Amino acid sequence: MTDFRTTRARFRLPDGTIYLDGNSLGPLPVAALDRVGRMMAEEWGQQLIRGWNTAGWMTQPRRTGDRIGNLIGAPAGYVVVGDTLSIKVYQALAAALELNPTRRVILSDSGNFPSDLYMADGLIRSLGRDHVLEVVEPEAVEAAIDDSVAVLLLTEVDYRTGRLHDMAALTRKAHAAGALAVWDLAHSAGAIPVDLAGADADFAVGCTYKYLNGGPGAPAFIYVAPRLADRVRPALSGWMGHQSPFAFNLDYRPGHGIERMRVGTPPVIALAALDAALDVWDGVSLAEVRAASLALSELFIREVEARCPDLVLASPRDGARRGSQVSFRHPDGYAMMQALIAQGVIGDFRAPDVMRFGFTPLYIGEHDVKAAVAILDDIVSHRRWDQPAFHARALVT
Ligand SMILES: *Cc1c(COP(=O)(O)O)cnc(C)c1O
Repeated sequence: MTDFRTTRARFRLPDGTIYLDGNSLGPLPVAALDRVGRMMAEEWGQQLIRGWNTAGWMTQPRRTGDRIGNLIGAPAGYVVVGDTLSIKVYQALAAALELNPTRRVILSDSGNFPSDLYMADGLIRSLGRDHVLEVVEPEAVEAAIDDSVAVLLLTEVDYRTGRLHDMAALTRKAHAAGALAVWDLAHSAGAIPVDLAGADADFAVGCTYKYLNGGPGAPAFIYVAPRLADRVRPALSGWMGHQSPFAFNLDYRPGHGIERMRVGTPPVIALAALDAALDVWDGVSLAEVRAASLALSELFIREVEARCPDLVLASPRDGARRGSQVSFRHPDGYAMMQALIAQGVIGDFRAPDVMRFGFTPLYIGEHDVKAAVAILDDIVSHRRWDQPAFHARALVT
């Protein structure tokens, strides 16, 4: 049994804050503070360049990758950490397209995160082989999978609405049509149970600063199915993915399996924070996290609809079709969110009118949900959001 009282103590949250934005940036794990301090003082400070060998910096991307693999149903040895998610999307998509050379269509949906679509667009232009990016409504994806599709590129949980795709069913359909499936787990890893091996996904990518609490700008991860790991040709053929980087050969030879998806020097300080953040998952069951997150989300929806009828639910009502966030629409959602944040209830806003709230039972309880809704109700019913300071748009929303 996961004891959610002890998991809460593993995070440092400011007093008076109800943090409903772990879907955007997870809070600080207590262990990361100490780990990064020690890494810097003892490893970097004392070992200096020897740390690459003596402190295991060079193999850290694989070890941390395996720990993430445990949370997403990947067999050991097929996940590696590094770079940012946008880069990992590019790598996975490039590799998948090359495995399906006679087809030209990349199929995605309008609920995908724009950066994934931008990376696909940039890749198409670099390849110069007349690939097309076909973007359909999320509900139309299944019907659009046909034998023109080279690669299905989807994010499992919609960043705006929380709508959840059926990874296993869509992958099955893609395979039956002769396409490969690349899954983005940005809003899945650490939020819901994921079974990459069971779904037979070809590639998966994700970030670690959302539900995995690795810290702002924490490195991303990539998974390649075991049956493909030694077949893919990296488009970003950096020296860290070379078979023997320190032979300094002038020609590129891909490393063994998932190693070839590494690009350049690993971000060792960020990896220390991430690895400490992953300690939080020891003794935690993702099935229990999922059940508790659904209970909190359902409570939130019920309370908001009862008390703030002007807000319109933007997420699927059926919990089984939703990730672990709940979104509501309102034309003044931006100002409402700023007013909420000013009172210590932190969620975020996505254009044009979506207020997002993430429910992570690792550090959020029922009383937090009720307190957050009481504050929201007060802000909405007394129009406390209607002040110039709350209308002013910041750089990051
Ligand atoms: C958060 C997110 C990203 C962000 O990519 P970065 O390169 O890490 O900035 C990309 N794709 C999806 C689906 C996301 O949710």
